[in-house]
Amino acid sequence: MLRTFPTPYPDELLYSIFARYHIRSGNRNFQQSIKELLGYVPQQLHGLALPNSLSILAKNLHPITNLTVESLVVEHTLYPFYKGFLTQSEAFLLKNLMRKKGGKPIFQIAKIAIIERDPNKQFLRFCSQCFEEDVQKYGEAYWHRTHQIPGFLVCLVHKRLLNVSLVSIQDGYLDCYAANSENCLINDSPAICQEHTLQQLIEIAREISWLCNTQFDFKGLQWLRKQYQHHLVNQSFMSLPSSRTFNFHEDKIVSTNLSFYGKDCLSLLKPDLAEHLGRYFYRCLFACDVEPVIDRVTHILLIKFLRKSLKHFFEA
Ligand SMILES: [Zn+2]
Repeated sequence: MLRTFPTPYPDELLYSIFARYHIRSGNRNFQQSIKELLGYVPQQLHGLALPNSLSILAKNLHPITNLTVESLVVEHTLYPFYKGFLTQSEAFLLKNLMRKKGGKPIFQIAKIAIIERDPNKQFLRFCSQCFEEDVQKYGEAYWHRTHQIPGFLVCLVHKRLLNVSLVSIQDGYLDCYAANSENCLINDSPAICQEHTLQQLIEIAREISWLCNTQFDFKGLQWLRKQYQHHLVNQSFMSLPSSRTFNFHEDKIVSTNLSFYGKDCLSLLKPDLAEHLGRYFYRCLFACDVEPVIDRVTHILLIKFLRKSLKHFFEA
């Protein structure tokens, strides 16, 4: 029984709880703490977003914590985001993998790209105001789960751009990095952007929030591709001269989106997105059901652009 397991804070990333456990445990190295928590040291690089072996963890927790596999997965991992573009049976499979140790690689089931160790390091994000408020309220800061969701670049509580910390996501469970003033440099790197960009990012974060918090039956990527074609034709971004051919007006949809979202907003979401928008769109619109990876951020942008909101699109 893990007697020093910390009580999770609201919206705390599981890795953050592990890091706080390690500090309390007095263990010499983080790997030892992870072994106590999960029964082994995971090597997979997606562990921070989609950890596995959670049934072992839940079994080791004191019943008084009221923590179950279900509550850990839903409240402290990025499962609610990644399940968004999976069918019910795929989402079930993913959750099942998160319970167990081993089985198919999680990135394959979640259909996410393999994280490269370098050169494009990704870092945990934080809100400087949340950081200060957490320290005042709880006596310590922590990593917020929603701040780590791809495409979620603002704090919806404080309506400000998130800062980038010094902790690399690629390091996974290699070491313990609880959020603190050494890896969350508030004063050195104020996160700012133009008001229009900020408003767009807030709207995108709200869409992601809807995706994470709404139960809806995703009908599959083939269905998604057909829906796209219907809306593209309706909005004159695509024409069907015959039953066998179609003309996709790529330049038109790219230029309309560039002015709709703004280049700065797109570049913050992905560094090369504005530059290669046509290529990103084409893959999502016409090949999403054959690609091994789901580009969720680009899908969210396309859906928001074509139907104003994910709610309109999925619940129509
Ligand atoms: Zn905040």
